[in-house]
Amino acid sequence: MRRTKIVATIGPATDTEEGMRGLIEAGVDVVRLNASHGDNESHIANANLARRVAREAGRTVGVLVDLPGPKMRTGMLTSDSVELACDAEFILTSRDIVGNQHEVSTTITELPNWVKPHDEIFLADGAIVLRVDTVDGDDVITRVVRAGTLRSRKGMHLPRSESHIDPFTERDQVALELALQIKADFVGLSFVRRPEDVEGVIAKLPKRGHRPSIVAKIETATALDHLPSIVGAADGVMVARGDLGIQVPARRVPMIQKEIIRYCNMAGKPVITATQMLESMTRSPLPTRAEVNDVANAVLDGTDALMLSEETAIGMFASETVRTMAEVAESAENWPHHRVDPTGVTMDGDLVAWAVAHAAVQAAEDLGVAAILCPTKSGSTARRVAAWRPSMPIAGISPNPNVLGGLALTWGVKPLEVPEVSDGNDQLRVAVRATLAAGLASPGDLVAVVFGSVGPRAGSTDSVRIIRA
Ligand code: ATP
Ligand code: MG
Ligand code: MG
Repeated sequence: MRRTKIVATIGPATDTEEGMRGLIEAGVDVVRLNASHGDNESHIANANLARRVAREAGRTVGVLVDLPGPKMRTGMLTSDSVELACDAEFILTSRDIVGNQHEVSTTITELPNWVKPHDEIFLADGAIVLRVDTVDGDDVITRVVRAGTLRSRKGMHLPRSESHIDPFTERDQVALELALQIKADFVGLSFVRRPEDVEGVIAKLPKRGHRPSIVAKIETATALDHLPSIVGAADGVMVARGDLGIQVPARRVPMIQKEIIRYCNMAGKPVITATQMLESMTRSPLPTRAEVNDVANAVLDGTDALMLSEETAIGMFASETVRTMAEVAESAENWPHHRVDPTGVTMDGDLVAWAVAHAAVQAAEDLGVAAILCPTKSGSTARRVAAWRPSMPIAGISPNPNVLGGLALTWGVKPLEVPEVSDGNDQLRVAVRATLAAGLASPGDLVAVVFGSVGPRAGSTDSVRIIRA
């Protein structure tokens, strides 16, 4: 059984019944809907489609809605594209114009106030670099230092500029409401800088009923100065290597990835490694050696989940890419020297529940049990058990599809749906039955069950039992 989870971005290549079935059968655990692209109707349809196809396949699939965040862009051009040659003068302006080879507008009207001579401005994910010469009224006059082809509405980055920008825009509010409407299991926050950015969004979530997990995307330089507190504030984290590799030199990203994953492992929170993992498979049926190494190394770093973007949104080999990712991940997991060191787990919050989860894993390893069963109200028991990276499967057991969806990102946890019960013996019985049905244990195998009392006086997780399935 593969322990590492796979997130796949849905787009024109995969938003059909056939496309979705291909992804889910190949092993996708979470589908990602990027609110920067597509419209609300298509996202609603895709969420429903993913859940229906998963149900038909007897699987649980989580839904992640990514909020756009304040992505700065250049404006429209008169032609399809223009070539910016090295050393040429190029003007970025807050005047409302249609651009050409000499000048282009931007979505940031305050741009002239934010930059000064010698600042670098990155266009199209760093494919083009401009250096500011002078600022003249509405115009920022630059020199092209890295030549390239500019198209309409490309992303624009200014080093450290994110400090000027409201991280939660009107568009984000609309996308958040969409996420709540489709009962998304996860909401991705783009361009998080500080823990307050996460807390602000959590404060907007409903106080009762379904509440999505908030995944902080780490892709700004500022966020790197606040990593432990952002990990503390969020429910999960994404190493968003695309934008991150522009905000800081790309050569630093491998080490930053390891650091982010380590903080998340210690806090027992799920972490996704994202962007360009198998990018060449967007157009080719075979990945590069470097990509295969990258996927395996993210697993060895201890990531909970791996993500695909273009590969599944617009790729020609979407389900093959997922299958490749699954095989590479499993192979890395099976390396005998691979064991993420769980000694640094911080056990924040409910100390009793953490200690019980730890004891369960210890007993499970001592006895070599077949599986660790976690009947769980919120999913947190299964997440705490996973933090210790046990060598046997973890069953996350609940009657609530939203709780099960919320476990879809967590390393090693297999979400299992069971009927609602009101009594402790029934709880044990349905948990064991579901575990046997899922093939995680055979009749007569020893299993460990981590649980709390059920019913109106339910407390937190306080017990471990070792029983025969
Ligand atoms: P982000 O910074 O949030 O990752 P992105 O522009 O890189 O934004 P991805 O979600 O990584 O977007 O997807 C990669 C590409 O796939 C997009 O740039 C877009 O071309 C395409 N894409 C993704 N989702 C959709 C969609 N729903 N409809 C059409 N194209 C899409
Ligand atoms: Mg991004
Ligand atoms: Mg992307």
